[in-house]
Amino acid sequence: MSGLVLDHLAVSYGLRPAVRGLTLHVKAGESVALVGANGAGKTSTLLALAGALKQSARISGTQTFEDRAFPWGDVRARLAAGISLVPEREKVFALLTVRENLRIGASRAVGDRVRVDDVLSWFPRLRERRDTLAGNLSGGEQQMLALGVSLIGTPRLILLDEPTLGLAVPVIEEFCASLRRLRAELGLSALVAESDSNWLPHLADRAVVIDRGRQVADFRRLEERDLDAIHDVMLGLS
Ligand code: ATP
Repeated sequence: MSGLVLDHLAVSYGLRPAVRGLTLHVKAGESVALVGANGAGKTSTLLALAGALKQSARISGTQTFEDRAFPWGDVRARLAAGISLVPEREKVFALLTVRENLRIGASRAVGDRVRVDDVLSWFPRLRERRDTLAGNLSGGEQQMLALGVSLIGTPRLILLDEPTLGLAVPVIEEFCASLRRLRAELGLSALVAESDSNWLPHLADRAVVIDRGRQVADFRRLEERDLDAIHDVMLGLS
């Protein structure tokens, strides 16, 4: 199976299980939402897929991307394959400028399909503010910068952790439009963790709902009534 295949992922911190046997498939070019309440195991899943879980976490299961297996914990191999994470917190280096943040992305990138100048041309607001400290950007600009950093190199699959969290509605709309455009332009696949079902149709083609580290539902469409059903599942009403 091509694309991303995650098979029976289990993650635990000490004795506490965070993800319990999660199996997922993101086809080439597809965007899948990983939906769940706080503590459902979304961040742990994305960190595992990015090779970036803390070494103290226990992890089992397998991950393949484009039919190649990746050993857990190997960030470098994943970056080389074009898998990169847009993390939820500490997205950018606050005391470095926009351009310096992008250069750090370039220094760890493998391949040069997307360069710093490409990101600055895609996001005019970042270009205008390229010499501004990232800590002085608005939340939306920081999210754009985090996305831009993750795209530098040879992006194939991006893992976005709650990209809409704490942003104002027009900013989310702009972010979703940029993401959609860049996904089409670069042929990117995406796995997007979300706890807010409202934005799912703008971010993903389908959604997997998890609760306490397990899949509890799978929605192949994201129409209005599906969103209501997702909302209900998240509230434990169905
Ligand atoms: P949130 O939106 O709150 O980040 P989440 O769905 O992303 O939630 P995780 O962050 O993966 O969920 O957390 C899953 C479970 O693992 C939670 O019970 C959380 O408290 C626990 N957990 C996460 N990270 C650690 C850690 N480094 N050490 C110990 N427990 C952790």
